[in-house]
Amino acid sequence: MHIKLKGVVLRKTAISDHDAYLHVFTEDRGVVSVLARGIGRGKSGMSAAAQSLSLCEFTLFAGRDRYIANAIDLVEPFVELRSNLSGLSLAAYFGEIVSRLFDEGTDSGQAFRLFLNCLFLLSKKALPERQIKSIFELRVCALAGFAPDLSACRLCGSGSAQPMYFDVQEGTLQCGACGGAGLLVNPSVLAAMRHIVYAPGEKLFRFTLSPPSDRQLYSVTEQYLMLKSEKVYPSLNFYRSVADESI
Ligand SMILES: [Zn+2]
Repeated sequence: MHIKLKGVVLRKTAISDHDAYLHVFTEDRGVVSVLARGIGRGKSGMSAAAQSLSLCEFTLFAGRDRYIANAIDLVEPFVELRSNLSGLSLAAYFGEIVSRLFDEGTDSGQAFRLFLNCLFLLSKKALPERQIKSIFELRVCALAGFAPDLSACRLCGSGSAQPMYFDVQEGTLQCGACGGAGLLVNPSVLAAMRHIVYAPGEKLFRFTLSPPSDRQLYSVTEQYLMLKSEKVYPSLNFYRSVADESI
Protein backbone atom coordinates (compact mmCIF):
# COMPACT_ATOMS: atom_id res chain seq x y z
CA MET A 1 0.00 0.00 0.00
CA HIS A 2 1.31 3.44 -0.95
CA ILE A 3 0.67 6.43 1.29
CA LYS A 4 1.64 10.09 1.40
CA LEU A 5 2.46 11.83 4.64
CA LYS A 6 4.19 14.95 5.85
CA GLY A 7 7.07 14.75 8.27
CA VAL A 8 10.28 16.31 9.53
CA VAL A 9 13.48 14.30 9.24
CA LEU A 10 15.11 14.12 12.66
CA ARG A 11 18.19 12.10 11.81
CA LYS A 12 19.64 9.66 9.33
CA THR A 13 21.27 6.29 10.05
CA ALA A 14 23.34 5.01 7.12
CA ILE A 15 23.19 1.24 6.65
CA SER A 16 25.43 1.17 3.55
CA ASP A 17 26.99 3.61 1.09
CA HIS A 18 23.67 3.76 -0.70
CA ASP A 19 20.91 3.14 1.79
CA ALA A 20 19.84 4.71 5.07
CA TYR A 21 17.05 4.81 7.58
CA LEU A 22 15.46 8.20 8.11
CA HIS A 23 13.87 8.84 11.48
CA VAL A 24 10.88 11.03 10.69
CA PHE A 25 8.47 12.87 12.98
CA THR A 26 5.20 12.53 11.07
CA GLU A 27 2.04 14.55 11.15
CA ASP A 28 -0.13 11.79 12.58
CA ARG A 29 1.86 8.61 13.20
CA GLY A 30 4.52 9.65 15.71
CA VAL A 31 8.20 9.06 14.90
CA VAL A 32 8.68 6.38 12.24
CA SER A 33 11.73 4.85 10.53
CA VAL A 34 11.75 5.03 6.75
CA LEU A 35 14.09 2.99 4.59
CA ALA A 36 15.49 5.27 1.88
CA ARG A 37 17.16 3.16 -0.78
CA GLY A 38 19.66 4.92 -2.98
CA ILE A 39 19.76 8.03 -0.83
CA GLY A 40 23.56 7.90 -0.74
CA ARG A 41 23.62 8.25 -4.53
CA GLY A 42 21.24 11.17 -4.63
CA LYS A 43 18.38 9.12 -6.07
CA SER A 44 15.23 11.08 -6.95
CA GLY A 45 16.54 14.17 -5.22
CA MET A 46 16.09 12.33 -1.95
CA SER A 47 19.34 13.37 -0.35
CA ALA A 48 18.65 17.07 -0.85
CA ALA A 49 15.13 16.71 0.46
CA ALA A 50 16.01 14.57 3.40
CA GLN A 51 18.20 17.07 5.20
CA SER A 52 17.70 16.97 8.95
CA LEU A 53 14.99 19.30 10.30
CA SER A 54 13.38 19.88 6.91
CA LEU A 55 9.66 19.46 6.34
CA CYS A 56 9.11 16.96 3.53
CA GLU A 57 6.28 15.09 1.89
CA PHE A 58 6.98 11.38 1.75
CA THR A 59 5.50 8.93 -0.70
CA LEU A 60 5.94 5.63 1.06
CA PHE A 61 5.30 1.99 0.59
CA ALA A 62 3.84 0.88 3.90
CA GLY A 63 4.80 -2.74 4.41
CA ARG A 64 3.77 -5.03 7.23
CA ASP A 65 6.60 -3.95 9.48
CA ARG A 66 8.29 -0.99 7.82
CA TYR A 67 8.05 2.02 5.52
CA ILE A 68 10.09 2.30 2.32
CA ALA A 69 10.47 5.69 0.59
CA ASN A 70 9.44 5.93 -3.05
CA ALA A 71 9.85 9.69 -3.25
CA ILE A 72 10.68 12.52 -0.87
CA ASP A 73 9.71 16.07 -1.79
CA LEU A 74 11.05 19.05 0.09
CA VAL A 75 8.28 21.31 1.41
CA GLU A 76 10.09 23.71 3.78
CA PRO A 77 13.84 23.61 4.38
CA PHE A 78 13.90 26.33 7.11
CA VAL A 79 16.86 27.88 5.32
CA GLU A 80 17.53 30.64 7.87
CA LEU A 81 17.89 28.04 10.60
CA ARG A 82 20.95 26.55 8.83
CA SER A 83 23.06 29.61 9.54
CA ASN A 84 21.91 29.98 13.14
CA LEU A 85 23.82 27.44 15.24
CA SER A 86 22.03 28.35 18.44
CA GLY A 87 18.56 28.02 16.91
CA LEU A 88 19.51 24.89 14.98
CA SER A 89 20.84 23.16 18.07
CA LEU A 90 17.68 24.07 19.99
CA ALA A 91 15.61 22.59 17.15
CA ALA A 92 17.72 19.42 17.33
CA TYR A 93 16.95 19.24 21.06
CA PHE A 94 13.22 19.52 20.28
CA GLY A 95 13.66 16.68 17.78
CA GLU A 96 15.26 14.52 20.44
CA ILE A 97 12.34 15.22 22.77
CA VAL A 98 9.68 14.15 20.25
CA SER A 99 11.70 11.01 19.48
CA ARG A 100 11.44 10.19 23.14
CA LEU A 101 7.78 11.06 23.67
CA PHE A 102 6.01 10.12 20.43
CA ASP A 103 6.69 6.53 19.41
CA GLU A 104 5.34 5.17 16.17
CA GLY A 105 1.57 4.94 16.31
CA THR A 106 1.03 7.66 18.91
CA ASP A 107 -1.33 10.54 18.21
CA SER A 108 1.13 13.28 17.32
CA GLY A 109 -0.93 15.86 15.38
CA GLN A 110 -0.88 18.69 17.91
CA ALA A 111 2.74 18.03 18.88
CA PHE A 112 3.68 18.07 15.19
CA ARG A 113 2.10 21.50 14.73
CA LEU A 114 3.84 22.76 17.87
CA PHE A 115 7.16 21.45 16.57
CA LEU A 116 6.70 23.11 13.16
CA ASN A 117 5.65 26.41 14.77
CA CYS A 118 8.77 26.36 16.94
CA LEU A 119 11.02 25.61 13.94
CA PHE A 120 9.44 28.52 12.10
CA LEU A 121 9.84 30.94 15.03
CA LEU A 122 13.46 29.85 15.56
CA SER A 123 14.28 30.29 11.89
CA LYS A 124 12.73 33.79 11.86
CA LYS A 125 14.15 34.71 15.29
CA ALA A 126 10.63 35.89 16.03
CA LEU A 127 10.75 35.28 19.78
CA PRO A 128 13.53 34.92 22.37
CA GLU A 129 14.97 31.40 22.19
CA ARG A 130 14.52 31.00 25.93
CA GLN A 131 10.80 31.58 25.56
CA ILE A 132 10.43 29.17 22.64
CA LYS A 133 12.36 26.55 24.62
CA SER A 134 10.12 26.86 27.69
CA ILE A 135 6.93 26.85 25.65
CA PHE A 136 8.00 23.75 23.76
CA GLU A 137 9.15 21.85 26.85
CA LEU A 138 6.03 22.41 28.91
CA ARG A 139 3.45 22.24 26.13
CA VAL A 140 4.90 19.07 24.65
CA CYS A 141 4.72 17.43 28.09
CA ALA A 142 1.04 18.35 28.28
CA LEU A 143 0.42 16.95 24.79
CA ALA A 144 2.21 13.72 25.67
CA GLY A 145 -0.10 13.17 28.66
CA PHE A 146 2.00 14.79 31.37
CA ALA A 147 0.07 18.02 31.90
CA PRO A 148 0.75 19.49 35.34
CA ASP A 149 -2.21 20.65 37.45
CA LEU A 150 -1.61 24.38 37.79
CA SER A 151 -5.11 25.40 38.83
CA ALA A 152 -4.61 25.79 42.59
CA CYS A 153 -2.78 24.63 45.71
CA ARG A 154 -3.48 20.93 45.86
CA LEU A 155 -4.07 21.05 49.63
CA CYS A 156 -6.21 24.17 50.30
CA GLY A 157 -7.53 24.86 46.80
CA SER A 158 -6.38 28.47 46.67
CA GLY A 159 -5.44 29.54 43.17
CA SER A 160 -3.89 32.85 44.14
CA ALA A 161 -2.17 32.24 47.50
CA GLN A 162 1.41 33.48 47.82
CA PRO A 163 4.05 32.34 47.95
CA MET A 164 3.30 29.40 45.62
CA TYR A 165 5.56 26.41 45.02
CA PHE A 166 5.61 23.96 42.11
CA ASP A 167 6.26 20.33 42.95
CA VAL A 168 8.16 19.23 39.84
CA GLN A 169 7.88 15.54 40.66
CA GLU A 170 4.10 15.58 41.16
CA GLY A 171 3.30 18.38 38.71
CA THR A 172 1.18 20.16 41.34
CA LEU A 173 1.12 23.43 43.29
CA GLN A 174 1.41 23.89 47.00
CA CYS A 175 1.14 27.26 48.73
CA GLY A 176 3.42 28.49 51.49
CA ALA A 177 0.74 28.23 54.17
CA CYS A 178 0.28 24.54 53.35
CA GLY A 179 3.97 23.72 53.63
CA GLY A 180 5.27 24.88 50.25
CA ALA A 181 7.03 21.83 48.83
CA GLY A 182 8.91 22.34 45.57
CA LEU A 183 10.29 25.24 43.56
CA LEU A 184 9.20 28.75 44.48
CA VAL A 185 7.40 30.23 41.45
CA ASN A 186 6.61 33.92 41.44
CA PRO A 187 3.19 35.08 40.14
CA SER A 188 4.57 36.01 36.69
CA VAL A 189 6.18 32.63 36.21
CA LEU A 190 3.06 30.81 37.36
CA ALA A 191 0.92 32.90 34.98
CA ALA A 192 3.30 32.00 32.12
CA MET A 193 3.17 28.30 33.02
CA ARG A 194 -0.63 28.36 33.12
CA HIS A 195 -0.69 30.10 29.75
CA ILE A 196 1.62 27.49 28.19
CA VAL A 197 -0.46 24.58 29.47
CA TYR A 198 -3.98 25.96 29.02
CA ALA A 199 -3.92 28.57 26.19
CA PRO A 200 -5.46 27.61 22.84
CA GLY A 201 -2.90 26.92 20.13
CA GLU A 202 -3.31 30.22 18.29
CA LYS A 203 -2.49 32.22 21.46
CA LEU A 204 0.23 29.96 22.79
CA PHE A 205 3.23 32.11 21.85
CA ARG A 206 1.63 35.43 22.82
CA PHE A 207 3.01 36.39 26.18
CA THR A 208 6.01 38.25 27.48
CA LEU A 209 8.08 37.59 30.55
CA SER A 210 10.73 39.95 31.85
CA PRO A 211 14.03 39.09 33.54
CA PRO A 212 14.59 37.47 35.97
CA SER A 213 11.25 35.60 35.65
CA ASP A 214 12.22 34.31 32.20
CA ARG A 215 15.25 32.61 33.78
CA GLN A 216 13.08 30.97 36.40
CA LEU A 217 10.64 29.72 33.75
CA TYR A 218 13.61 28.39 31.75
CA SER A 219 14.73 26.32 34.69
CA VAL A 220 11.29 25.07 35.80
CA THR A 221 10.13 23.83 32.38
CA GLU A 222 13.47 22.14 31.71
CA GLN A 223 13.40 20.27 35.02
CA TYR A 224 9.79 19.24 34.47
CA LEU A 225 10.52 17.88 31.00
CA MET A 226 13.55 15.89 32.22
CA LEU A 227 11.53 14.30 34.99
CA LYS A 228 8.48 13.44 32.93
CA SER A 229 10.35 12.13 29.90
CA GLU A 230 12.89 10.32 32.11
CA LYS A 231 15.78 11.26 29.88
CA VAL A 232 18.90 13.40 29.85
CA TYR A 233 19.37 15.05 26.44
CA PRO A 234 22.89 15.29 24.97
CA SER A 235 21.59 17.87 22.49
CA LEU A 236 20.62 20.14 25.38
CA ASN A 237 24.20 20.25 26.61
CA PHE A 238 25.28 21.19 23.12
CA TYR A 239 22.63 23.90 22.92
CA ARG A 240 23.81 25.36 26.22
CA SER A 241 27.37 25.50 24.90
CA VAL A 242 26.37 27.53 21.82
CA ALA A 243 23.23 29.35 23.03
CA ASP A 244 22.94 32.90 21.83
CA GLU A 245 21.98 34.67 25.05
CA SER A 246 21.08 37.87 23.24
CA ILE A 247 17.94 36.52 21.57
ZN1 LIG B 1 -2.52 25.79 50.22
